[in-house]
Amino acid sequence: MRNLTVTYAGGAAAVRGVDLRLDAGSKLGVAGESGCGKSTLALALLRLLPAGARVGGEILLDGEDVLTMKWGRVRAVRWARASIVFQGAMHSLNPVHRVGDQIAEPVLLHGRATAAGARKRAGELLEQVGLPAARASAYPHELSGGQRQRVMIAMALACDPRLIVADEPTTALDVMIQAQILRLVEQLVADQDVGLMMISHDLAVLAGTCDRLAVMYAGRIVEEGPAAQVYEDARHPYARALSDAFPRIGDPSSRFAPRGLPGDPPDPSALPGGCTFHPRCPVALDSCTVEDQPLRQARAGWRAACVRVGRDGPEGAGPDRRCEGVPHPGSEARPDIP
Ligand code: ADP
Ligand code: MG
Repeated sequence: MRNLTVTYAGGAAAVRGVDLRLDAGSKLGVAGESGCGKSTLALALLRLLPAGARVGGEILLDGEDVLTMKWGRVRAVRWARASIVFQGAMHSLNPVHRVGDQIAEPVLLHGRATAAGARKRAGELLEQVGLPAARASAYPHELSGGQRQRVMIAMALACDPRLIVADEPTTALDVMIQAQILRLVEQLVADQDVGLMMISHDLAVLAGTCDRLAVMYAGRIVEEGPAAQVYEDARHPYARALSDAFPRIGDPSSRFAPRGLPGDPPDPSALPGGCTFHPRCPVALDSCTVEDQPLRQARAGWRAACVRVGRDGPEGAGPDRRCEGVPHPGSEARPDIP
């Protein structure tokens, strides 16, 4: 994505100038609170936004711009080159069709097989995602939530796409099933050399699954870098607050004082001036109320959009010392742990 912008009818600027790159065989996590523009980003990728939404910039899929494709080409690209696993499998599956037929449908539509071949392929795909092929004859309501999410993943894989976008694929599942689904997705990506963009509000899940992590706030990427490092040592105060919101195994202090971030992300039709995060930022400077911050290099391959990051010195000049010593948001309020 290059300088991707999405403005909904009514003026909500839901995505504002997003630059992201995803290589085949790698996994990019996109995190952020509800309302930060993650799903809008996913929908824009396959031109699934509602009529009236204005989209700018470029979305290059193996070099071909999705935004300028003719509709016939868009239909050919959907499922076959890029597919989406939506949040909430119950709402995405058709309740009156057997799941096997729903998996076979894109295979048939894309002329990949005959009716009998598509049915066989549906059975194979179900086995690939850990369900017996015989479950193809089940209706969605006859499956558990985790099984339905597996069906959605089988559908996404049906035509061997190059890119899979998974929008909160495990948010509605319990933690045990969530772990199974994540392992499955990870293994499929590794085996088939597809690019995976995984969206979640759960930074811990993304850090455990993805190679790189992008944190979104108010329609922009505020930090992007190697997943484990962004999770452990975020440079942007918002990314820090997100990562501090999850208790850490082995760190008892986080259990006693889970840190949150007061307030909500701004309404995209009424964004605050300056850095959009400044009203919630515990370490904002006076200048943050007027100066917007672009993404700057914090370390090699790691960017953040904060006044405290990589301001002077040549790009890649090494770690930005001024980040160190900046308190984690909310840390002042932590009681002493005996
Ligand atoms: P996320 O997936 O991060 O929760 P969304 O992309 O769903 O965020 O939403 C981003 C912003 O765009 C929100 O403020 C939301 O209210 C707004 N939005 C989403 N869909 C529409 C729509 N169809 N029309 C107008 N505004 C929308
Ligand atoms: Mg969403």
